[in-house]
Amino acid sequence: MNQRGPPQTIFINNEWHDAVSKKTFPTINPATGEVICQVAEGDKADVDKAVKAARAAFQLGSPWRRMDASHRGKLLNRLADLIERDRAYLAALETLDNGKPYSIAYLVDLDMVVKCLRYFAGWSDKFHGKTIPLDGDFFCYTRHEPVGVCGQIIPWNFPLLMQAWKLGPALATGNVVVMKVAEQTPLSALYVANLIKEAGFPPGVVNIIPGYGPTAGAAISAHMDVDKVAFTGSTEVGHLIKKAAAESNLKRVTLELGGKSPNIIMSDADMDWAVDQAHFALFFNQGQCCCAGSRTYVQEDIYNEFVERSVEKAKSRVVGNPFDFKTEQGPQVDEEQFKKILGYISTGKREGAKLLCGGNPAADRGYFVQPTVFGDVQDNMTIAREEIFGPVMQIMKFKTIEEIIERANNSKYGLAAAVFTKDIDKANYVSQALRAGTVWVNCYNVFGAQAPFGGYKASGNGRELGEYGLEAYLEVKNVTIKIPQKNS
Ligand code: ADP
Repeated sequence: MNQRGPPQTIFINNEWHDAVSKKTFPTINPATGEVICQVAEGDKADVDKAVKAARAAFQLGSPWRRMDASHRGKLLNRLADLIERDRAYLAALETLDNGKPYSIAYLVDLDMVVKCLRYFAGWSDKFHGKTIPLDGDFFCYTRHEPVGVCGQIIPWNFPLLMQAWKLGPALATGNVVVMKVAEQTPLSALYVANLIKEAGFPPGVVNIIPGYGPTAGAAISAHMDVDKVAFTGSTEVGHLIKKAAAESNLKRVTLELGGKSPNIIMSDADMDWAVDQAHFALFFNQGQCCCAGSRTYVQEDIYNEFVERSVEKAKSRVVGNPFDFKTEQGPQVDEEQFKKILGYISTGKREGAKLLCGGNPAADRGYFVQPTVFGDVQDNMTIAREEIFGPVMQIMKFKTIEEIIERANNSKYGLAAAVFTKDIDKANYVSQALRAGTVWVNCYNVFGAQAPFGGYKASGNGRELGEYGLEAYLEVKNVTIKIPQKNS
């Protein structure tokens, strides 16, 4: 175990810096509402410093640009090794700062982080260009080159995993990074900065800035010397990022945004499994998932039984101290989210949805919310249209397949969707009709570094993970060479 504490300042050029302004901000333990520590508050001046460092690390002839592709893969694998070495510490930091149950942070988040880095390590020397049979006497080929300085802005719901999703493809393909971590959860991703240095990445290749969105985040998306921005967060901020890119240097933009994903339960589904998975689809990670199955549509002849069993399951969910191994649900990440969720619950009641369980804070202190289930929800209600990002399930009734396809697609979002049925024809028909970046059949929240993830419509642009995830980090250069026809 590495015994260093979490660093609380800004990581630029493999060194730790106070904010240029000297300002700090508190990061809070959401289980108690108490301050864990103060963290340096980076803003535009710090982003400028970090971009300069990244640009220098990207100069032709720099150690990073001259490094063998296979060696970049080796460094990513070393980083994965170091994260495995410090896994318990990192999981504890994640739980302290984010509130997610320690057992989940350790077993799920950290496992996925390590696998993601190893997956992209393998790609480092495998993203091949092509030779192209151009008309005439020419040798035409493509080189897949790094885009350059990549700004990466990450959210608080999976701090370490979102960091790995962004660093993996960027570094495998030889880019340099200026990353802004979420203000709610800076600690674990900053600790990883130590490991990036220890793994042997040259100074300036990865720079990490804690700070707020409208200052540090906006400085990245508007920066004239940032070549690409990758963002995960709300659709609202996604609009701002694209606008800032358009108004500055037209930097490339990839966005992974919100969702209101339909989860369709057909009457022929395995009832036990469907109830279990619909619960997992919504309540996993305190309901704080962009792909949460937050519109549960149930076919009319099984509706009553499904609702009854979903309520039973929600009532038995164990909410409490996230460091307790029995805990399934910890606190929401902060007071703002806690209040927003309780606000949505009031709106649901006011608009006539049937509150079947929960609906209140689940503890005297900290930001705990009772697992909540609404039945008889109508598609036009606010809780059926907007992203709640909390442990609040909406169950709706449907009759026919044609009807449910139309209703499921009637959303500005298109991140994920699921269908539960034992009929392969229904499964195929519905999955090709749904307008979403991921469709799960008889399962939910199945992720792997190998498979692409991203949104249709207002859920985003571009894909993360898998081979598709490399595209956003590569420029394609066409090199065309005249071939002499006589050997002189
Ligand atoms: P949430 O509402 O879930 O907190 P946000 O979209 O506000 O999601 O935040 C996701 C990330 O985007 C965070 O790192 C946050 O600081 C950052 N962010 C927020 N506002 C902006 C902005 N105007 N420009 C750039 N980044 C921002």
